[in-house]
Amino acid sequence: MIALLRCLPLLAALLLPGCALFEEGASLSNFRTVVVDAGHGGYDNGARGRQGLSEKMLTLDVARRLKPLLEARGYHVVMTRTTDVFIPLGGRTAISNSHSDAAFVSIHFNCSPRRAADGVETYYYDRRSAPFASNILREIATCYGSHSRGVKYARFYVLHHNQRPATLLELGFVSNPKENAKLQDPRVRQLLAERIAAGIARGHGGRAPIMGS
Ligand SMILES: [Zn+2]
Repeated sequence: MIALLRCLPLLAALLLPGCALFEEGASLSNFRTVVVDAGHGGYDNGARGRQGLSEKMLTLDVARRLKPLLEARGYHVVMTRTTDVFIPLGGRTAISNSHSDAAFVSIHFNCSPRRAADGVETYYYDRRSAPFASNILREIATCYGSHSRGVKYARFYVLHHNQRPATLLELGFVSNPKENAKLQDPRVRQLLAERIAAGIARGHGGRAPIMGS
C-alpha cells in the first residue's frame, strides 16, 4: 500500500500528454552524443524501497558511472543532472532536442504494489527507437540475476517529446526486497552501467561512429 502511494505521483508525472516529434535525420546509426538522464531528483524522490537509497539517488549513481564508460567508447556525453536537483521533464527533453547528433537514455528504477514484481524492462515511444531499447535490454536483462520483462511501448513524456532516438530504462524494482537489496550494492550498479554502455554502442559495433568523413 505504501509502495502504491509512492508509485502513483510518479506515473502521473511521466504520462503527461504531448506531441511526438521524432525529427527526420535523427537515427540510430548516426548519433555520437548520448544524453544521460538520471530520473527524478530534488524534492522528487521517485520510488523508494524499504531500505537504502531512493530512486533519485540510484539513478544519479548509475548515470555518473555510465558517463566515463561511454566516453571511453568515444561518445560525447551530456548529463541532464549531475547532482540531486529537480529538472522538469520539459527541461530534460530540451537538452536532448538541442543536440542534433544525440540519442537519449533515461534511467529509472521500478516500483509496484505487488512486492513480488521484479525484472528489467526498456521503453520506447517512436517505433524507430525500438531497436535502441531492444539493444540495451539484451545487455542488461540478466546482468545481476535479473530477468527481462521485455521492450515496451509507452507514452512517457521524456520519450514522447523527444526528437531523438530515445529510451527509458527500468533497471529493477526497489519495491521488491530481494531486488532492492541487489540494487543497493554499488557493484551491481557498476555492472548495470557497463551493460548499458555496451547496449548503447551495440548498433555501432561497440564504439561511437566517426562522423563527417
Ligand atoms: Zn522513475
